[in-house]
Amino acid sequence: MWRASVLTIFPDMFPGPLGESLAGKALAAGTWLLDAVDIRDFATDKHRSVDDTPAGGGPGMVMKPDVLARAIDATATDARPRLLLSPRGAPLDQNWVEELAGGAGVVLVCGRFEGVDERVIAARDLEEVSIGDYVLSGGEIAAMVLIDACVRLLPGVMGAAESSAEESFSAGLLEYPHYTRPQLWEGRGIPEVLTSGDHGKIAAWRRAEAERLTRERRPDLWARRPGSQTRPARPK
Ligand code: SAM
Repeated sequence: MWRASVLTIFPDMFPGPLGESLAGKALAAGTWLLDAVDIRDFATDKHRSVDDTPAGGGPGMVMKPDVLARAIDATATDARPRLLLSPRGAPLDQNWVEELAGGAGVVLVCGRFEGVDERVIAARDLEEVSIGDYVLSGGEIAAMVLIDACVRLLPGVMGAAESSAEESFSAGLLEYPHYTRPQLWEGRGIPEVLTSGDHGKIAAWRRAEAERLTRERRPDLWARRPGSQTRPARPK
């Protein structure tokens, strides 16, 4: 069964939003497993310290390699990928999410403070993953983003009504626009083709809109769409 183990100094943040909606129902049904591991349980001093001052000086604190390594060794006892949430990591995208969702699960290490001692990243072979070019105060919300994106792809989690087949990124394109009733709202109508009942024309319109939006909003995705060029490898 797909399992997410999250190493954190804030285990009470979990499941948090992952306990609601699609992911929450699937968690309650046992479709996937979640364990939040408290890194402080692996500290050895009476203050349960997990951080120390940076070598070389400067502001903030750094997560200690010895404590974190003990937490990883006790948790990552199988072949699941070990990922460190990090703003300097390779960007998470839908292809990577699909790869992770297709495996046995993930071991996620959440940084705090200024980050993690570099030696534990190397010694425990942690792959760094970023959820975007901005800085969060900790890796927990980033871990939730990654887990949510994976869990919704697990077999049985999304019903036919929420199928991922036509979603943004599924064909390297952003998704086409959606409309629902009322037919006329604040003077704005629904594109005529969508009420024509002609499924061929509707599919062609949706494809053309998806291509137009991708070209306009995400020229980077447009350039990398399947057939245009191969996806660049993730930096190691
Ligand atoms: N000093 C670090 C830097 O400048 O890159 C930022 C550390 S941040 C305050 C603390 C932790 O939040 C990081 O160790 C990481 O686990 C998490 N984090 C912050 N931004 C993130 C992002 N964009 N993606 C993934 N994790 C992030």
